Amino acid sequence: MILIDGKKEAAILREELKKEVLDLKARYNKIPGLTVILIGELAPSKIYVRNKEKSAKEVGLKSEVIKYPDSVDEITILNKIYELNKDDSVSGILVQLPLPKHINKKKVIEAIRPEKDVDGFHPQNVGNLSSGYESSIPCTPLGCYFLIKKVEPNLSGKKAIVIGRSNLNGKPMTQLLLKENCTVTITHSKTKDLKRECLKGDIIVAAVGIPELVRGDWVKKDTIVIDVGINKTEKGLVGDVNFEEVSKVAKALTPVPGGVGPMTIACLLKNTIECFKRSI
Ligand code: NAP
Repeated sequence: MILIDGKKEAAILREELKKEVLDLKARYNKIPGLTVILIGELAPSKIYVRNKEKSAKEVGLKSEVIKYPDSVDEITILNKIYELNKDDSVSGILVQLPLPKHINKKKVIEAIRPEKDVDGFHPQNVGNLSSGYESSIPCTPLGCYFLIKKVEPNLSGKKAIVIGRSNLNGKPMTQLLLKENCTVTITHSKTKDLKRECLKGDIIVAAVGIPELVRGDWVKKDTIVIDVGINKTEKGLVGDVNFEEVSKVAKALTPVPGGVGPMTIACLLKNTIECFKRSI
């Protein structure tokens, strides 16, 4: 079984991005900039943002975090986004989710100029991705895509099963696999007999949020299994895939932690650089 090492792949990608930033600096005398807006004191959000800022600096991006208290009003956030939209030194804008209840997520996402939407959540980017046009692509599915391609460069004709249909993961993952000429089945909480669907997959991407949902007898031999889930349990962090069982049958599998997670941030940096390149 191939243990897909997301940490290693993310480090390789970051090295490539570092070189690209140096090259862009030499050519245009400018560097791409990422601005993250963090609202409130949620511990996981603070950790994610700290990691994003650290990684951005490591590859040589200009990185800025703007923090607001939980009580900040929506208009203050929207006005800050409008200001950043006009700022030429900012290539990418990310508003860390989740937002406090009194702030409308849709309004915030739509306020970001699609050209600076490094998360790929703006409806224009979602539409562009599904139409096959150039767009920012949500970072986690993009990371999954790179990991799958490392194991199997030619995905044409493969049967892919995506578990979960969120805007963040399942839906963009489906688009990326379709683009690679996979035959994709997207499954969700109302899917009947998920095990039977999974057994058809040459590729399974699990983005559900249920600890160890995918069992060893759900997976056929030679399947590539990508585990997006991050679930806190009594035995520590586990994914949506039962690692012990599935590792005995799958062709390749991502661990949790150390699989998809590290690729997510590396892809955010890549998206920032892509936004910069499209702006010059
Ligand atoms: P989400 O928005 O809650 O979506 C979960 C999806 O799973 C929904 O489409 C839901 O179906 C489906 N689902 C729920 N129960 C199911 C079942 N029994 N069988 C089949 N499908 C079922 O979650 P998300 O934001 O996509 O995140 C999914 C997981 O990925 C979470 O564990 C999250 O922490 C993790 N995550 C990891 C990263 C990373 O960097 N590694 C990034 C983001 C998220 P319905 O649509 O019918 O409700």
